[in-house]
Amino acid sequence: MKEKLISLVVPMYCENEVARECYKRLKKVMQENNISHEILFVNDGSKDNTLNILEEIAAEDKKVKVISFARNFGHQIAVTAGIKKATGDAVVVIDADLQDPPELIPDMLKLWQQGYHVVYGQRKKRRGETWFKLTTAKYFYRFLNKMTEVDIPVDTGDFRLMDRRVVDVFNSMPEKNRFIRGMISWIGFKQTALMYEREERFAGETKYPLKKMLKLASDGILSFSFKPIKWIEGTGLVVILLGILLMLYSGISWVRGTVSSIPGWLWLMVLLSGIHLFALGIIGEYLVRIYDEARRRPLYTVEKEINIE
Ligand code: UDP
Ligand code: MG
Repeated sequence: MKEKLISLVVPMYCENEVARECYKRLKKVMQENNISHEILFVNDGSKDNTLNILEEIAAEDKKVKVISFARNFGHQIAVTAGIKKATGDAVVVIDADLQDPPELIPDMLKLWQQGYHVVYGQRKKRRGETWFKLTTAKYFYRFLNKMTEVDIPVDTGDFRLMDRRVVDVFNSMPEKNRFIRGMISWIGFKQTALMYEREERFAGETKYPLKKMLKLASDGILSFSFKPIKWIEGTGLVVILLGILLMLYSGISWVRGTVSSIPGWLWLMVLLSGIHLFALGIIGEYLVRIYDEARRRPLYTVEKEINIE
């Protein structure tokens, strides 16, 4: 294993309670298994003293590299920045909170040496998470899988090993609203799962409140599926047919002099304006993302880099 360099990418947002322990656990696994490595910590605009801790670690260990964002850009962007700066033959992305056990990295490396280009951690079990998170996540992954043409594995987060070939393709993908697990599936090559049990957070609270979860979920669906637009088309057609039938019915009734107007027009109007607004909203979601791409802003701004040439 000595000749190959392994890069570990760890995003951190306000992780002062776990940063040091995270470094210790990662380092221990790397040393015990004699793996030559670098560790890239990405400080995603933390409001606590995460950066100070990382600076201290990087001062003692030159294998530790730090990229520090000028503000919070979000988990997916932080991971992207780390992967971009990684120089290893393989890159492992892992959360800072030790929910993904670093002890699994040697197993991932074994599969890599057997010829797999991507080894993704697939969760059999998740400990210490709320009922809400477990259920929404479970159904989201299954829903997403049904929606998309690329096969995005269920119950898979961003804990994964990627071969240099995959990393190079990933680095060439400039999209802004990133759903990394989908992008990696899209890239292809030989991919395999490593089943594991997700631990509880080592300390601190989740940095993924509902708002960030929803953004990630909508990016997953909207960047990998055009089905919502197809649904609008389908619903629109059905509604038009319904409208034509009602029109004929009211015309005939009027000629026969049975009724002067269609009863129930009110609910119909409300229903229709609802459908229209919803449809516009979905189109808007795509449009906003197209606009976002078209502006061609950089993905993030870096305030500071440590130990990076
Ligand atoms: N994270 C980040 N930026 C953010 C939110 C989270 O870099 O805006 C990092 C966080 O520090 C952690 C990882 O992303 O290393 C996953 O976050 P968290 O553990 O809070 O999510 P959960 O496991 O609860 O889904
Ligand atoms: Mg976590």
